[in-house]
Amino acid sequence: MSNDKTSTVEIAGAGPAGLAAAITLARAERPVIVHEAQAEVGYRFKRDLQGLENWTTRQDTLNVLQEMGITTGFKRLPCRQGTAFDAWDMPYAIHSHAPLFYMVVRGPGPDTLDMALLRQAEELGVEVRFNSRLRHAHGSAIFATGPKAADAIAVGYHFDTRMADGFGVICEDDLAPKGYAYLLVMGGKGTVKSCMFTGFKQEALYVQRTVAAFQRLVGLEMIDPRAHGGVGNFRVPGMARSGVHPVVGEQAGFQDTLWGFGMRAAITSGVLSARSLLEGSDYDRLWRQVLGELMTAGVVNRALYSLLGNRGYRWLLRHQENHSDARELLHRYYRPSRVKGLLAPLARWRFQSQRQDESCNHVDCSCVWCRHGRERHA
Ligand SMILES: Cc1cc2nc3c(=O)[nH]c(=O)nc-3n(C[C@H](O)[C@H](O)[C@H](O)COP(=O)(O)OP(=O)(O)OC[C@H]3O[C@@H](n4cnc5c(N)ncnc54)[C@H](O)[C@@H]3O)c2cc1C
Repeated sequence: MSNDKTSTVEIAGAGPAGLAAAITLARAERPVIVHEAQAEVGYRFKRDLQGLENWTTRQDTLNVLQEMGITTGFKRLPCRQGTAFDAWDMPYAIHSHAPLFYMVVRGPGPDTLDMALLRQAEELGVEVRFNSRLRHAHGSAIFATGPKAADAIAVGYHFDTRMADGFGVICEDDLAPKGYAYLLVMGGKGTVKSCMFTGFKQEALYVQRTVAAFQRLVGLEMIDPRAHGGVGNFRVPGMARSGVHPVVGEQAGFQDTLWGFGMRAAITSGVLSARSLLEGSDYDRLWRQVLGELMTAGVVNRALYSLLGNRGYRWLLRHQENHSDARELLHRYYRPSRVKGLLAPLARWRFQSQRQDESCNHVDCSCVWCRHGRERHA
């Protein structure tokens, strides 16, 4: 394989992970070709509203992106307050001084996160080939093809609405088993979803209950609802490589195992993979340094959260309401600690990815044995 600092790097996948890698390489004047299997960026998201979390670092996530050389030129709504509900319809205020997360739009369109990344990449001279599915890599390459299994699903609707901007969450297993139901509204557009970690076969029932609950609790108004959903694939990989090629983003399993806020890990791993090619350094060492402890804390958090049940969620919501700042509290929950380190092996055993073959990181998996493949809800 040639990685002689001038050879072209091929990247499979124009999601946040692949584009962040492309931008980092292009900023160092390395030639890059990004192959995107679909006709546009963010195809699977179709203008989904998502949250760019702002609690894993003390530094604001927008500054973190800027320091990594990644654009922040996308539409966003800083979210400092919202409402959470328990299974008994009790509301709990969520407050944070700094934004808890930034609401962003995903998929095609002028103002989305995906388009901002694409624009930055193209302005830096990256060649992006759409309708181009990379099947084999012959030279330097980075694999960024997204999830390979469904460890969680988020299913519901996109819609137009006259509701005010904001967000709401419901923690109730009858709506979103082991997960949470959420409502996001920005600029007359909304998304309502049940994000579930089990019970996928009854997804339609959970979505129906989620919509009914938000109608009852906050007067959810959906104009022209369009069904939408997708999957999340979480795992702490042993090695994030396929042969010699770095594997980044959700293809590697980099995600927020607790709640599925995977965009930041995708972008960060993309940047790290590019740096490893530029510097000739060990990508596995880099991601372990930057993401390893956070991923481990996420798995422990997931194992604990999945034990809570409705009464446990109620306790958690009360606890957060009594805390002066939700961002501070979440920062603490996501921070690595000795206790989390000790619990990690048990948590890993309890939470196991649905991937049939954990070692398969092929660029365009067609292995019959590992059953990786297309998304159920693409
Ligand atoms: C419904 C839903 C809601 C979510 N909400 C949030 C949220 O609120 N906050 C958050 O942080 N995260 C959220 N996530 C997770 C987040 O979207 C992902 O973690 C993130 O998009 C992963 O980025 P990625 O680049 O790894 O993969 P993707 O975004 O999936 O991009 C992979 C790209 O690779 C392309 N591709 C696949 N195979 C090939 C191939 N062989 N050759 C070329 N191209 C290929 C695909 O078409 C795709 O465009 C959500 C996910 C879902 C499904």
